[in-house]
Amino acid sequence: MNRAIGFYLGTVVMEASLDRCPALVLNADYQPLSYYPLSLWSWQEVVKAVFLERVQVLSAYDRLVRSPGFAMELPSVVALKRYIQPAKYPAFTRFNLFLRDSFVCQYCGTRHDLTFDHVIPRNRGGRTTWENVVAACAPCNLRKGGRMPKACGMHPYTTPYQPTVRQLHDRGRAFPPNYLHDSWSDFLYWDAELEA
Ligand SMILES: [Zn+2]
Repeated sequence: MNRAIGFYLGTVVMEASLDRCPALVLNADYQPLSYYPLSLWSWQEVVKAVFLERVQVLSAYDRLVRSPGFAMELPSVVALKRYIQPAKYPAFTRFNLFLRDSFVCQYCGTRHDLTFDHVIPRNRGGRTTWENVVAACAPCNLRKGGRMPKACGMHPYTTPYQPTVRQLHDRGRAFPPNYLHDSWSDFLYWDAELEA
């Protein structure tokens, strides 16, 4: 195919779906910068980082980004040139807390209708922390109400704890994100680890 036509076709395809082409961002050691959420940059951020020479392109989509005087394949995986010390502890978010508890009610084991329960109720001074909040289904949450665990005989399967990023990552192998581009699997190893 004529090179100019190739550029043209690439540009047409690209404009329709660029926003669905994020790049996986790896640290300088080729580990994802973060798993939860997965470190993804928009195509604009990636192109900018390439120009500033902050990242190395490891894989690309079959699409071109183009502006007058330049064209490049849209990166699908990039690695930072300079290593960033990763956080040891994950953010205290809904998703991360459910992930720590494997999306299972800590009182009855169901996966449905999940909410959060304060093990020591708030009206007894219980705080909203990793160490005091567990995943609980709405019926269990209602049943427990504002009572202490001993008073109602409801103890979580696992004593709540602050997980490390590593622990969440291990847990997350069973819950991969909905969308993974083919070129990312080499760096995420979901399949390999699931089979192990
Ligand atoms: Zn339950």
